[in-house]
Amino acid sequence: MSEAIGTQLRRATPTVEVGQVRIGSNHPIVVQSMTNTATEDPKSTAKQVAELARAGSELVRITVNTLEAAKAVPEIAERLAMMSCDVPLVGDFHYNGHTLLEQVPECAEILAKYRINPGNVGFGRKRDDQFSSIIECAMRYDKPVRIGVNWGSLDQALLARMMDENAKLERPRDAGDVMREALVVSALESAQQAEAMGLGKDKIILSCKVSAVQDLITVYRNLAARCDYPLHLGLTEAGMGSKGVVSSTAALAVLLQEGIGDTIRISLTPEPDQPRTDEVIVAQQLLQSMGLRAFSPMVTACPGCGRTTSTFFQTLAKDVETYVREKMPQWRREREGVENLSLAVMGCVVNGPGESRHADIGISLPGTGEAPSAPVFVDGKKTVTLRGENVNRDFLALIDDYVRDHYPARIKES
Ligand code: SF4
Repeated sequence: MSEAIGTQLRRATPTVEVGQVRIGSNHPIVVQSMTNTATEDPKSTAKQVAELARAGSELVRITVNTLEAAKAVPEIAERLAMMSCDVPLVGDFHYNGHTLLEQVPECAEILAKYRINPGNVGFGRKRDDQFSSIIECAMRYDKPVRIGVNWGSLDQALLARMMDENAKLERPRDAGDVMREALVVSALESAQQAEAMGLGKDKIILSCKVSAVQDLITVYRNLAARCDYPLHLGLTEAGMGSKGVVSSTAALAVLLQEGIGDTIRISLTPEPDQPRTDEVIVAQQLLQSMGLRAFSPMVTACPGCGRTTSTFFQTLAKDVETYVREKMPQWRREREGVENLSLAVMGCVVNGPGESRHADIGISLPGTGEAPSAPVFVDGKKTVTLRGENVNRDFLALIDDYVRDHYPARIKES
């Protein structure tokens, strides 16, 4: 049985509590997501929040952009409670957050965290007042904030100031360098301003999102070296489909490997008719494939090649994936540690027995020209050989047996 994975060495930070979720220090890296429904529509928003939470999102952010949206937050929370969904809600504020939080105190009370974008909090002399107003609200309601800088909405006054300073240097830096530095400075100066007002260090999370992989890595390395606040990672506007998945993974994996990142979001643009929950699954798969957390059993399957010309092996690999995904809600409720289960479905004798021995339970199917038999390996030892038409059914039954025998029941079986 594989070892449970929960924590890994990361940069030292305070722990920030967002509702019942703990972020930072050596707490497991938190997966979060964001709705794309109109928050003014509490029914649709609550439904999507619940879907994201069921998929594994541990925080869900909703935009709070209008008075109607702020007023809808209590009903969203009520609807979630009726669905027994207690995922913490994060409010995303731009331009008018200071007004909305003052005008709708129930919204300020219910939200578990406020996200503030220092580039969109206000302009000119109003900027500091409006930023201060949100921080005062966070202190009044004892809420943490994420100071979330974004490449697309960088504080233009700050950028202009830094560009001017740069132009006066004997050897000015590249404009891209100045912009990347401005992202970091915007986050750090805003955090210092919040702390100077009295907001605790354990109430602040920072992020500096950009849309290019190498820029994101550079910016976060810089940010991580210059502060000890927990960091939220995400490649903003990652894009659709495999491009979004690959870009996000390429950027975040480098940073996570260096111990940078306490919470993540994969900002995928959903394909038409594809579920919003894909971004949660990708975030979980990223963390699990790096060995940083375990969410559900991993199925190792070879790609297949000319040695296995039948589709039988592909069908079994798919059946196992589907079976595990469908059984997981029940297993998770009933069996302690089942998310650490590892499975292998392999196409022929070349790598089949070896890879199957590394899994908790693995099967090596017969390739072209091999005897029509499929040895099964459990905890590294060959236990049985499956044959005939019912190999799929028999292997799924062996997985059930393994789960029952190796993961203790959370509740007494009747
Ligand atoms: S295990 Fe066999 S079938 Fe699978 S990729 Fe390797 S050689 Fe090909």
